[in-house]
Amino acid sequence: MIILYPGSFDPITLGHMDLVKRACTMCEKIIVGVAKNHSKAHMFSLEERLELSEAVLTDFDNVEVVPLDGLTVEAAKALGADTLLRGLRAVSDFEYEFQMAAMNRKLNAEIETMFLMPDEKYSYVSSSLVREIARLGGDVSHFLHPIVHDALLSHLKTLPKADN
Ligand code: ADP
Repeated sequence: MIILYPGSFDPITLGHMDLVKRACTMCEKIIVGVAKNHSKAHMFSLEERLELSEAVLTDFDNVEVVPLDGLTVEAAKALGADTLLRGLRAVSDFEYEFQMAAMNRKLNAEIETMFLMPDEKYSYVSSSLVREIARLGGDVSHFLHPIVHDALLSHLKTLPKADN
């Protein structure tokens, strides 16, 4: 099994990393696909999201980080992946993930979507909430690798006060 784990990773959290850790023993290789995703306003640029993901996943021998553009199933095929990995934190994730998995199956029936649940201490962690709390001055160090936490704090320092 070769897994593609697609997402925005804006930024990568300990929740994402928990999922990679669970999946990496089950497969030959995991490719973490960092989406360009033009419809979302990102805090970190694609290059920064790639760099941070690479930096915190460097200890995993069978994990690779690549940029993703276009249809996920097409990218999976081009990368030789047969399985997509997505996370399910709570029931609220289900509807969107169900729709995406069904649509991806319709687009390419040979690619399966696999869902994993993170450790419960990460079940309420999302990149968007982490960004919002950090912007408001809250402590998000429990949810991020120190490299990512430092990058987030540096990023916030560069913002004008009104955007902060
Ligand atoms: P996207 O914009 O594609 O949802 P994300 O980076 O937010 O990108 O999430 C990518 C995948 O990782 C999604 O399946 C999401 O449910 C999962 N995920 C995000 N945060 C966590 C977490 N704390 N625990 C487990 N899975 C997570």
